[in-house]
Amino acid sequence: MIPITKPFLPPIEEFKLLIEGIWKRQWLTNMGPLASDLEMRLKDYLAVKHLVFVANGTVALQMAIKALELNGEIITTPFSFVATTSSIVWEGCTPVFVDIDANSLNIDPNRIEEAITEKTTAILATHVYGNPCDVERIDKIAKKYNLKVIYDGAHAFGVKVKGKSIFEYGDITTCSLHATKLYHSIEGGLVTTGNAELLKKIAIMRNFGISGYDSFAELGINAKNSEFHAAMGLVNLKYIEAIGEKRKELTEYYDDRLRSIRGLKPIWHKDANLNYAYYPILLENEELLLRIKKELDLNEIFTRRYFYPSLASSLPYLDKRKFEIADDAARRVLCLPLYFDLTREEVDLITRIMLRAQNN
Ligand SMILES: *Cc1c(COP(=O)(O)O)cnc(C)c1O
Repeated sequence: MIPITKPFLPPIEEFKLLIEGIWKRQWLTNMGPLASDLEMRLKDYLAVKHLVFVANGTVALQMAIKALELNGEIITTPFSFVATTSSIVWEGCTPVFVDIDANSLNIDPNRIEEAITEKTTAILATHVYGNPCDVERIDKIAKKYNLKVIYDGAHAFGVKVKGKSIFEYGDITTCSLHATKLYHSIEGGLVTTGNAELLKKIAIMRNFGISGYDSFAELGINAKNSEFHAAMGLVNLKYIEAIGEKRKELTEYYDDRLRSIRGLKPIWHKDANLNYAYYPILLENEELLLRIKKELDLNEIFTRRYFYPSLASSLPYLDKRKFEIADDAARRVLCLPLYFDLTREEVDLITRIMLRAQNN
């Protein structure tokens, strides 16, 4: 059996060492020393000004919307994980979808302006598969119409554009540190912003809105994360270079093996580095995808159709809408297994089955 992903697990001794410290201190959660240490190290590693470690990537998005005091309509992408859209609805705002760019699979900046109404307050875009959105164009549009910008950077850990962290673009960027992501703390998330005041507000929000021993400053929620999760994050951070190297090597091996596949990979932002978070391939048509997927399934090799069906066509709490490019991409995209423990032999097997299915 080959799963779509396996979480990276560090040597257990290193994790145990940190857990023993937790036992000694008996400080389990609520902004403990490991959580603070992780925040400092991540800020350093990612080269961002301000960052908070939170419970998950979904509550990070919800707090971003809340902290910016958004209401009305938020322009967003139909091609993302459901949390991008559900957070908008959860915060009482209306998602307004615009279609994606066929090359990058990110929100198409050319279609944003026509979707802006007097109710529009923000743009919430996802860096799909870690591939940066056209941040400069989006920034220009946002400035012109006085809109806030939130990026869902759940896939974009470690990505830079022109040498600057992708998390530094927009008013707020969120990230997920869920076990299935490139870098994880079992469950976890990040909120980053260049605005110190906004960060302070989010840090208070994360802890019920408590601002002092006997005072409240904000409407808050419980979005804290525990020392145990921080411990996993700290140990995994030591391996982030090794994880990246291995994923790069496997990605290049896939590329080589799949040279004759009838499909394409999304076109990456020209000024950005790759983080190898996923291996997506846009097959020539859905029929080919289903044929390949069926053959892989029969061999217990599990792929994922990220993101099928498109959000605009499937969420029961929204009116259904069709989008030419997003729906087409959703039907044709397949993510292949990619994780630290995957071997070249397994990639050989996967790609051999794929090519056989294609050529039969
Ligand atoms: C994983 C993911 C999220 C949600 O993160 P959690 O930590 O699982 O809550 C949000 N957006 C995108 C694009 C994701 O892939």
